[in-house]
Amino acid sequence: MREPQVFLVNPAHATVGMSFLTPRWLFVIAAATPRSLRDPILVDESIEKFDPSRVIAGDIVGIGITTDNCLPGYDVLRAAKRKGATVIVGGIHATIFPEEPLSMEADAVVTGNGEAVWGDAVRDALNKRLVRRYDGGRESGDKLLPARWDLLAKQRLRNRYLFPTVQTVVGCPENCTFCSVWVTEGRNPRLRLTDAIVQEVNELNAMGFQTIMFADDNFNPATLGRIAREGSPSRREGLESLRERRLEFFREYARRVHRVIPSFTQMTSEVAEDDEYLAAMHDDMGVRGALIGIESFTLEGLKSARKMWNPVGDQMVNVIRAIQSHGIYVLGSIICGLETDTPETIAAMQEFAKSSTMLFAQFPVYRPFPGTVDFREMVADRERRSSSNPLSLAPKHATELLYEKYWLHNRCPRVIVKHPHMTEQELLHADQGCWNEFYSFREIWKRAVQLPCSWTWKFIFVFASLGFRALYAGRGISADGARTTLGLMPRLTLKGVGQLLAFSSLQRKRKLAQVS
Ligand code: SF4
Repeated sequence: MREPQVFLVNPAHATVGMSFLTPRWLFVIAAATPRSLRDPILVDESIEKFDPSRVIAGDIVGIGITTDNCLPGYDVLRAAKRKGATVIVGGIHATIFPEEPLSMEADAVVTGNGEAVWGDAVRDALNKRLVRRYDGGRESGDKLLPARWDLLAKQRLRNRYLFPTVQTVVGCPENCTFCSVWVTEGRNPRLRLTDAIVQEVNELNAMGFQTIMFADDNFNPATLGRIAREGSPSRREGLESLRERRLEFFREYARRVHRVIPSFTQMTSEVAEDDEYLAAMHDDMGVRGALIGIESFTLEGLKSARKMWNPVGDQMVNVIRAIQSHGIYVLGSIICGLETDTPETIAAMQEFAKSSTMLFAQFPVYRPFPGTVDFREMVADRERRSSSNPLSLAPKHATELLYEKYWLHNRCPRVIVKHPHMTEQELLHADQGCWNEFYSFREIWKRAVQLPCSWTWKFIFVFASLGFRALYAGRGISADGARTTLGLMPRLTLKGVGQLLAFSSLQRKRKLAQVS
């Protein structure tokens, strides 16, 4: 009989043998696992399926779930329970709905920052005194643990990922209605310690990674534009100090990492008004690409998303061009199906997207996610609409949520709302039109020839654009986990990227060996 083993499982609908991004939580929770035990076994189901035959009674299985991947997560839960394991479920979905995993027979749930309480939960499970709930709350930035990247090599995962994820700041000061970040992580951004970040980046650099993703909720929580529109004097002071600390961190990072690796991240468009910040991002942090939430090119759309501070129409086009002129290329995210959208506004947004010259764009179909203001209000609207009480309040939204617990539907439709101005078919058609037009070969080629790089890189860009469309069309990069199947083209793309990845890692290791 062997000693108890901890498994950490990142569930996925589709298993393809590799993934673009490392699921950071796996490596952070591994760091929070008591060192007196053997290393936890990491299972990322986009790489390999969870194999219950490896589990025996007394083992501990930790599963991290989001709304997109909770369904395969519950399959893992049931399989692990059948083997007699203790199952502990955490992640953003468990934080929002802690009762749901418990109702699926989980032994305990971890809510909030799991790294704060995971060690206690494991020790309690081993000592047979597990309680139902462990709340990690919101850890301060200095307590957020570095990830255990050594497990990438130890568990033969190094060549399965293209981009490792490093976090520098948690939380976002905004309050967009379709986003759950500020609800779960708070509006006071917490900065991680520079030492911990530098240590991680140097470790990844030594492993041969050539690009990293700063997986921050909002890389730029306090730029000049953001500070200028802050109404509260005390909050403005806090943001000013935050901006200074960010810039100091950028400088220190550039001084201390062995090499500033090219990176990409996600941020707000207001950074365009802050040249000093943009230059520091580019020069000190190596940021070469960023996902920017454009959401809509119309004022009405931005109002419905509570993001009126984003520029509208041509102004946003200019902002995107300004950011790209600093050498930071934009992946713009535009939501199709906000309450005020019509087929005409979506067609107009498509034109704005093309004229902005942003390198990549995604057009996710609108869906209200749990934890957001939209979701909470639309659930309340469902009750109001079905109420026979004449004094019941009028619904807040013209958009109707059709399925309250849509994440539990095996074949959940892409459109889960009844839109006030478009049928499901019209919405899907308009969305598909955006993807088709933006990623038509003609448009991709136009963007490629404008790139200030060699022809080799232009062709790589064309290949990457076609791959991006094949992988993410209809859903967008942040909702990747929702894909339940992958067609031939996405699979070939991933395989091709996998080969490139293995080759580039080998080259990098050779170079490092020559240098030393
Ligand atoms: S969408 Fe972006 S800017 Fe808005 S709250 Fe979420 S992270 Fe912040």
